[in-house]
Amino acid sequence: MNASVSEVGLADCYAARRRIAGRAVRTPLTRSAALSARFNAEILLKWETCQPTGAFKLRGATNMIAALLEKRGRDALSAGVVTASTGNHGRAVAHAAATLGIPAVVCLSRLVPEHKAAAIAALGAEVVRVGDSQDAAFEEVTRRVEERGMTLIPPFDDPLVVAGQGTIGLELMEDVPDLDRVIVGLSGGGLLGGIGAAVKAIRPATRITGVSLSRGAAMAESLAAGHPVAVEEVESLGDSLGGGIGLDNRCTFALVRRVMDDHYAVSEPAIAAAMVDLLEHEKQLVEGAAAVGLAALVEHGLEVRGQKIALILSGNAVSLETLDRARAMAGR
Ligand SMILES: *Cc1c(COP(=O)(O)O)cnc(C)c1O
Repeated sequence: MNASVSEVGLADCYAARRRIAGRAVRTPLTRSAALSARFNAEILLKWETCQPTGAFKLRGATNMIAALLEKRGRDALSAGVVTASTGNHGRAVAHAAATLGIPAVVCLSRLVPEHKAAAIAALGAEVVRVGDSQDAAFEEVTRRVEERGMTLIPPFDDPLVVAGQGTIGLELMEDVPDLDRVIVGLSGGGLLGGIGAAVKAIRPATRITGVSLSRGAAMAESLAAGHPVAVEEVESLGDSLGGGIGLDNRCTFALVRRVMDDHYAVSEPAIAAAMVDLLEHEKQLVEGAAAVGLAALVEHGLEVRGQKIALILSGNAVSLETLDRARAMAGR
């Protein structure tokens, strides 16, 4: 194995757990009676929707900011942290920074809807509106890092962010030491890579299955190509799984290649049906990106009989309009 500086190991995940304790939730894992009966398996649901921001990304952002505070001290972070994410990562950075008493700026293009900006501001971050594209927002982030000494908190491609997400893997192994398989959404690879790093170190036989969108799946296409490639971004019910992995990816590409056992792509109708299933049977609303594990079980007929399977319900950032779209697509 290539022992690069960007590798994430079990010790990193345990350090992350110590740092995020009391700042992110140790989420419940519950057995779904309906899904267990349907698949003749133990189907276990990991509720990352219980995080105060509604998604697991709080773990990674909290770990990174807390680790930098430990290593560099509060003065080094006095200019604050910055990111350009409109979604779950932006909310995570805002919340984590507020919890740790660090200023946070989230740069958003003027095209981002006002309710998203307001939600991030409500978590305690300063929202800076700039330009009319995501690229313009990123340029503003770079400017603030270079000119104002702010610290970038990336959404996935950093060992501290990945180790934070890896605390999910530690919790799974504690709750179900003989877990057969984890099925998890895959985009930039921080979530799958972190879980895989922890789980494979504790129980190598546990299978790690990644699930991405059938179009614009940057990590899957990069793995197939053997190097990071750019993909076109497409509209999806699983919009939190969109976006590239970075052509200069330094951490998650190699990690996902090492820890992922198999991979599936799921269609929009399958995601829609899985969202409605979870609402109907578990009485919980999850976003499309969180429903892809169930979607893969159904759409690809994965052989899971008699096994203990964990599905990572990664987030709940879904509007009523999007739920309506999913219900119309699922016909229920
Ligand atoms: C970010 C995100 C993912 C994917 O995580 P990566 O680390 O980018 O692979 C999955 N689900 C939700 C809800 C997310 O916000």
